[in-house]
Amino acid sequence: MKKILQDLNYNALEELTLSLGEKKFRAKQLYDGLMLGKKISEINVPSQLRERLLEEYEDEPVAILKTFRSSDGTEKYLFSLADGNVIEGVLMSYKYGNTQCVSTQVGCRMGCKFCASTLGGLVRNLTSGEILSQVLKVNALHGGSLNKRAVTNLVLMGSGEPLDNYTEVIIFLKNVTAEGGINISARNISLSTCGLVDKIYELADENLPVNLTISLHQTTDEGRARTMPIAKKYSISEILKACSYYFEKTGRRYIFEYSLIAGENCDKTHADELIRLLKGRPCHVNLIRLNEVEERTLKTVTEKQAYCFLGLLEKGGLSATLRRQIGADIGGACGQLRAGYLKGENL
Ligand code: SAH
Repeated sequence: MKKILQDLNYNALEELTLSLGEKKFRAKQLYDGLMLGKKISEINVPSQLRERLLEEYEDEPVAILKTFRSSDGTEKYLFSLADGNVIEGVLMSYKYGNTQCVSTQVGCRMGCKFCASTLGGLVRNLTSGEILSQVLKVNALHGGSLNKRAVTNLVLMGSGEPLDNYTEVIIFLKNVTAEGGINISARNISLSTCGLVDKIYELADENLPVNLTISLHQTTDEGRARTMPIAKKYSISEILKACSYYFEKTGRRYIFEYSLIAGENCDKTHADELIRLLKGRPCHVNLIRLNEVEERTLKTVTEKQAYCFLGLLEKGGLSATLRRQIGADIGGACGQLRAGYLKGENL
């Protein structure tokens, strides 16, 4: 694979342009073109510069291979990478704007039992430019420009564990929030992790006030370890300590994702335990009914059971919401689209 121009921030792009004997303003033209989701070959700069760049850099590191539209307006994308790998993403429209869910790795090595992204293990990390390009492509697809973005919010909840690809994810966060670029506010970005505690501390010290989301899904370490292998390494109490540090450093309240799995994590004892763990903390709980994955045996709960669990949490004084099931008709669960593609399903 060649190098990826979208990995570079503005200053690095300017240095590269100057080193190729070009004027400074060409860097701005290149940067604006890239931010508009263009291929190098489509950017309006002298052809000799384009050709020089194309010797070393991928023309289009991330391309939208296929778009799936749900009846509820949600869109899912299958992206192809330059080395032939595929990743997926989602765009959800809300009243306040459009939230894109981006992937940070091809596959994942965390091994959560309910998740389709982890089925084939980790293939490789994405580079910062490959993560950024997912946003640039979808923004362009929806006619967004730099003055008027079509993508307003981001969640790092596609395939991969963002904190397991820490360096590239941090560069991505710096570049996607950079002034003059697509410039999405850090406050509109949520990073979701299964709980890599050491990295949560590092993230807190980065001075990037993104929203921290923790995939909790259980109330005890033993219970959590049944579906999430990472629970053997870090305890819930260590995670909660790291969350407090995150709040102290960033002033941002944190969010817990809690996927409801029948017979596993959503009876009254779990609600009571969750209330005991989280009450009084500056946090919010996002409930979601498990998206059943063909290869996994875990089952979801009924809508009624989900509302009942929500009611218990609210009664116990927690701030909680049940997320509506979106895009279920187009392969709603994490990694399902890619898994289907790899199996050769006719999508
Ligand atoms: N690795 C990160 C981000 C990716 S997953 C993390 O663990 O947070 C985004 C969210 O979807 C996580 O909360 C994850 O646990 C959850 N998830 C994965 N598969 C799911 C499924 N089949 N049904 C419901 N939630 C799922």
